[in-house]
Amino acid sequence: MTNAASSSSLATSASALSLRPAVLYPWFAPVTTLKGVGPSVLQGLRRLLANSHMLEEHPHHTPALRDLLFHLPIGVIDRRNMTAVSALKKSEYATVEVTVTEHAPPPPNRPRVPYKVATEDATGTLMLTFFHVKGDYLSHQLPVGEKRIICGVMEWYNGMATMAHPDVIAAPEKASEVIRLSPVYALTLGISQKTVAKATTQVVEKMAPLAEWHSSELLKEKSWPSFTGALKALHMPNEAADILADSAPRARLAYDELLANQLALGLLRRIERRQQSFTIPHNEAVIQLLMKVLPFSLTKGQEQVLADILKDITSGERMVRLLQGDVGSGKTVLAFAAMAQAAAAGLQSAFMAPTDLLARQHLETLQPLAEALKIPLALLSGKMRKGEREDIQAALAVGEIKIAVGTHALFQDDVKFFKLGLVVVDEQHRFGVAQRMKLTGKGRTPHLLQMTATPIPRSLTMTMVGDMDISALTERPPGRKEIDTRAIPFARIKEVIEGLGRVLNAGEKIYWVCPIIEENTEDDGKLDLAAAEERYAQLSKIFPKKVGIIHGRMKLAERERVMQDFACGDLQLLVATTVVEVGVNVTSATVMVVEHAERFGLAQLHQLRGRVGRSNKASRCILLYHDPLTEVARRRLTTLRETNDGFVIAEEDLKLRGAGDVLGTRQTGLPEFKLADMSQHLGLIRLAHDDARHILSTDPELLSPRGRALRLLLALFEYDVAMGQLKPV
Ligand code: ADP
Ligand code: MG
Repeated sequence: MTNAASSSSLATSASALSLRPAVLYPWFAPVTTLKGVGPSVLQGLRRLLANSHMLEEHPHHTPALRDLLFHLPIGVIDRRNMTAVSALKKSEYATVEVTVTEHAPPPPNRPRVPYKVATEDATGTLMLTFFHVKGDYLSHQLPVGEKRIICGVMEWYNGMATMAHPDVIAAPEKASEVIRLSPVYALTLGISQKTVAKATTQVVEKMAPLAEWHSSELLKEKSWPSFTGALKALHMPNEAADILADSAPRARLAYDELLANQLALGLLRRIERRQQSFTIPHNEAVIQLLMKVLPFSLTKGQEQVLADILKDITSGERMVRLLQGDVGSGKTVLAFAAMAQAAAAGLQSAFMAPTDLLARQHLETLQPLAEALKIPLALLSGKMRKGEREDIQAALAVGEIKIAVGTHALFQDDVKFFKLGLVVVDEQHRFGVAQRMKLTGKGRTPHLLQMTATPIPRSLTMTMVGDMDISALTERPPGRKEIDTRAIPFARIKEVIEGLGRVLNAGEKIYWVCPIIEENTEDDGKLDLAAAEERYAQLSKIFPKKVGIIHGRMKLAERERVMQDFACGDLQLLVATTVVEVGVNVTSATVMVVEHAERFGLAQLHQLRGRVGRSNKASRCILLYHDPLTEVARRRLTTLRETNDGFVIAEEDLKLRGAGDVLGTRQTGLPEFKLADMSQHLGLIRLAHDDARHILSTDPELLSPRGRALRLLLALFEYDVAMGQLKPV
């Protein structure tokens, strides 16, 4: 989970509410308090403003006014530039100045025929059309013979330049009132520009200024406006340049978000470091036993990382270590070694995965090892039957179970450990600062081993994870062949399918991942599903009985049955939407086909590719793309062809992610910022990092006037758990 998502999901808890300073209440009022936001608009805003994770977890969450303000425009419409009628372009928004020539109301009793108003300028004729016109308001609005300024979108209709329901109709002398720069927002289906703009304008106009949290020197140096001033400049722009990513208002808001994040990380680090933890003695016998049980020996890199971990947990100080390593690099077994050491010392461990499916999969790999070493291990899942769950909880509470595998359900309040010595967090980047806080809070001081398969770009490591210790697995287990990656145009899909026949005959397995049609649409992935089902139908005709399908709308049990069939049964080709979770381990899979590869992010494609190449058989990754490719998409595909190195890919990913190109942010390991754009504001991270350090060293409890303003900043970005660590004012 990302920082933004996780922190907001905590906002509903009672403690979070009580930490929120009263001046911020209006910022967190629900959008339903606005004029014009009824049930259907609310539905649209929900999709627009909540990030995907939020929607999954809290489908009925009502966005706050703050969320609306943080949805920054992506451009402006400049209505001030007049276009000649003859120069109007189809489907483009434009402004014209015309003279009204004729009215043609629909014949009586034919209400579906539009009311037409003919207009012209010196260059041509423009027809305005209006449906369901009531009364005679059009004759007042558009009197024959008078000039009017009209804004709207021109379409050709019966060979006639036509504008249906123009957006603006104004007399020339009133033009300056009506016609100004309007922001353009990214939208989802079911909500219009006008609705978003109307709602946002209401909010901007009523928000009172907040105490300034930045130093006046910085503001002067950068010529930044105030926080509310910046929001106003973006939502009610006077200059088109204000909207650009490098404008002062945008930079100011990006910096606000980055500073809040760095302060929260700084506070987190402080607590993490402050704590002592269990000394877990080095138990060589356990290590030896594990080595005997494993069907392979550790690589040099794995041995080094294991040594790092053992050094940490025997030291008496708390381990806070991040283990980076590509998918398939062999992190899990190292985590198990550490958990086995803890068990030998009579301590419990928790192994936390981001999804239920992944947790269950880890259970399958860890269970045999645990049995061999006689360590009691169990799964704790939010999806378990109540009775079963209670039994496991009871066994955890008395210390009978030594290793608990699960999702964040492991850290619900009703789960009590007897003596929790070690927490392993798999796919660390899917959990945010808030989760890390939760593991650390309440006097729990287990050692912390975080693992991630999406390396944080080297240029960001320092600032993103601060002084967490870092280990990296850079080599793959021996015997693995490089994955042969090819980008192939979709037109050659037939050849690709033919090639798959040979793979199936060899008894190997194939993933076929279907495209994300559009991340932000209202259809909830129905279109994605349709595409996947169509491909499934086609492939199962060609390869009868060998093809399965898996997608997010299937029941968990059904999904698992298919997955199981694919891993160990007769299914050899699995068609999937992107639900094939990171880390799914089917060693006999040798081909990964990704359809519409150009729509996936670099990190995401790299993750998908990591599902194959898990044995000593040659593996392939086929990236099917549709022309024309954008320059960025082309570079992404080239990068993948050229390298299998996750670190190189992470760096490249960062470089390539331009404004608006946010596909796959969830997979990149970077926090999902709302206001900061990593491709534009990278330089500000370093500044925010240093600023946060300085603040926390001079005013550790944020009690100075600036410190108090900074508390507002933390609360605005919902770093409530971080705030909870500060002395109350
Ligand atoms: P990660 O969690 O880093 O993605 P895993 O720990 O799931 O990777 O390891 C992937 C596969 O490689 C597993 O099947 C594991 O048993 C195997 N493996 C791990 N280390 C080695 C090794 N040193 N030699 C051979 N295979 C290994
Ligand atoms: Mg893994």
